Amino acid sequence: MGQGHSALQTCINGIANGRSGFAAYPSQPLYQLAWVKPYNLDIKVHPEAVVRPKDSNDIAEVIKCATQHGYKVQAKSGGHSFGNYGLGGGQDGVITIDLVNFQQFSMDNKTWQATIGAGSHLGDVTDRLHDAGGRAMAYGVCPDVGIGGHATIGGLGPMSRMWGSALDHIVEVEVVTADGKIQRASETQNSDLFWGLRGAASNLGVITEFVVRTHPEPANVVQYSYTFIFGKSADVASTYSAWQDLISDPKLDRRFGTEFILNPTGAIITGTFYGTEAEYRASGIPDRLPGKTDMVGNNDWLTAFAHDAENEALYLSGLATPFYSKSLAFRREELINTTGIADIFKWTDSQDKGTPLWFIIFDATGGAIADVPMNATAYSHRDKVMFYQSYVVGLPLSKKSKGFLENFHGQITKWTGAFGTYAGYVDPELKDAPQQYWGSNYEELRRVKKVWDPKEVFWNPQSVRPAE
Ligand SMILES: Cc1cc2nc3c(=O)[nH]c(=O)nc-3n(C[C@H](O)[C@H](O)[C@H](O)COP(=O)(O)OP(=O)(O)OC[C@H]3O[C@@H](n4cnc5c(N)ncnc54)[C@H](O)[C@@H]3O)c2cc1C
Repeated sequence: MGQGHSALQTCINGIANGRSGFAAYPSQPLYQLAWVKPYNLDIKVHPEAVVRPKDSNDIAEVIKCATQHGYKVQAKSGGHSFGNYGLGGGQDGVITIDLVNFQQFSMDNKTWQATIGAGSHLGDVTDRLHDAGGRAMAYGVCPDVGIGGHATIGGLGPMSRMWGSALDHIVEVEVVTADGKIQRASETQNSDLFWGLRGAASNLGVITEFVVRTHPEPANVVQYSYTFIFGKSADVASTYSAWQDLISDPKLDRRFGTEFILNPTGAIITGTFYGTEAEYRASGIPDRLPGKTDMVGNNDWLTAFAHDAENEALYLSGLATPFYSKSLAFRREELINTTGIADIFKWTDSQDKGTPLWFIIFDATGGAIADVPMNATAYSHRDKVMFYQSYVVGLPLSKKSKGFLENFHGQITKWTGAFGTYAGYVDPELKDAPQQYWGSNYEELRRVKKVWDPKEVFWNPQSVRPAE
């Protein structure tokens, strides 16, 4: 990929024009540690350059250097891609545009729309929205994930059944496209590009800032988790079935977000309800949850986010590790029946996982996400009610551990016709990945790609191919 790396460096250094800290190249000492900083240590990445632009003009000029010298480009926001896709995803020679300097934030107090720099991490976005009038929006709970890679791929969190995904909140963006032009995109400007950016932006440009609609923070949040310590997955199969019955109820209160997490010691059910304790009890959910739930507390919005982040960190955190993950999205009619669940959980007990660090998360989706028509944005999992995500972490990661996840996936697909998964849970080994990630929107995405990036300047190992 690319020719004449010194010509590329001359081009990029010309943009820097003597500014220090603008770009680094592989020969630089501590390049990997200080500039590349891969998140998944199982995937080796060697970008040709990492550039830290100060503004959109810098990005436009770097993209022009890349196209002139035949290099591919990927943006990096929080750097939390499971496949290190902001760094080329294992394909050498990509130019990484690190958005660390894009931290701008402002709030329009009339429309309550916020403008958020694309390098901001979710933890900082939460604080900035709170300080700007007690506002909030939907996204995941890991504070180190970047809004750039998250709100452009989906952005699912415990409040998504109530408010939709992060990308459902985007009103407008500024984006630098493959021709090196700085554009605005919204429902009324470059609407085809705007459609594709909401679900597949890494294929179409570098977003520099988002304009998003916001909500008042809920005043009360009820949170709890209940731990079932059994040491055997088979012992929690009936508990899982009861949880699955609850989350697949079409009338399930949208203020409720929940996960069922299978781990080496048993299982944990977590729940977040955006309302008061009285409203939670009135929803009937506590009576339908298996076992007795330990109420964690009745929290305010910021405490609730911190609590969810703490829970999440028990599994995957900001810490770089070697890991692998597989996942699948389910429509209501594709959920596995109780016989299948018992069979799969029993099978899980019988397997050597090759690591003590494994866990399987089942999380509820749907609600407000399903209110948006399937073809309204490139995101294609609006008809799903649940995802499963499995993880193995190893130091180093063994073939046995990866094999366990492949075989677990095989056990699941024996019992369901479900096909496809969320592009935010990158699985570098996935066959037909674009079809699995973007489903029925993929062909339209290919047409949009042909218009805006026919030469595939924005590329990763599973990116959208332009239409013929
Ligand atoms: C610990 C952890 C917890 C997670 N929790 C959740 C969760 O609760 N809900 C959920 O939905 N997902 C979750 N994810 C998945 C996460 O949303 C995706 O990995 C997301 O893509 C990460 O974004 P990033 O900016 O941190 O990553 P990056 O690696 O920086 O970017 C990921 C991809 O997006 C592209 N990209 C980044 N910024 C831009 C931009 N400005 N313009 C265009 N393309 C861009 C990159 O080129 C790359 O291809 C989690 C991931 C981790 C590791």
